[in-house]
Amino acid sequence: MKYDITNIFAKIISGEVPCDKIYEDEHVIAFHDINPKAPVHALVLPKGQYISFDDFSAQGSTEEISAFFRAVGKIARDLGVDKDGYRLIANHKTSAGQEVDHFHIHIIGGRPLGPMIMPASGNF
Ligand code: AMP
Repeated sequence: MKYDITNIFAKIISGEVPCDKIYEDEHVIAFHDINPKAPVHALVLPKGQYISFDDFSAQGSTEEISAFFRAVGKIARDLGVDKDGYRLIANHKTSAGQEVDHFHIHIIGGRPLGPMIMPASGNF
């Protein structure tokens, strides 16, 4: 599968589409999910053109991978969910329900999250 440069997250990274931004640096951007599943639901993306975790973990440079995971931890702390706890989710392909084919991690928290696998129509 080839990276689709017209995906919505590519447009957010380029500034073509607005987002509710939380964080940005040379390698990473983070913003609030447009359809939050919990009081805190942030998305963290590498700026590079990686389709999913599988692609990023195999093709990302050491610098990009390091910057990405440092940013995920910092953003979770900045959002205050490190104290009570949070969940990280990275969906890869169809079985996981990946909707946007640009790698991203969801940071979800701000309430007790229940079982590890959330129902598809879970409310908060
Ligand atoms: P995934 O299923 O892991 O690909 O998750 C994609 C996520 O992107 C979903 O939780 C959507 O609500 C979210 N999303 C889609 N479009 C936008 C957008 N324009 N701004 C913020 N979040 C978005």
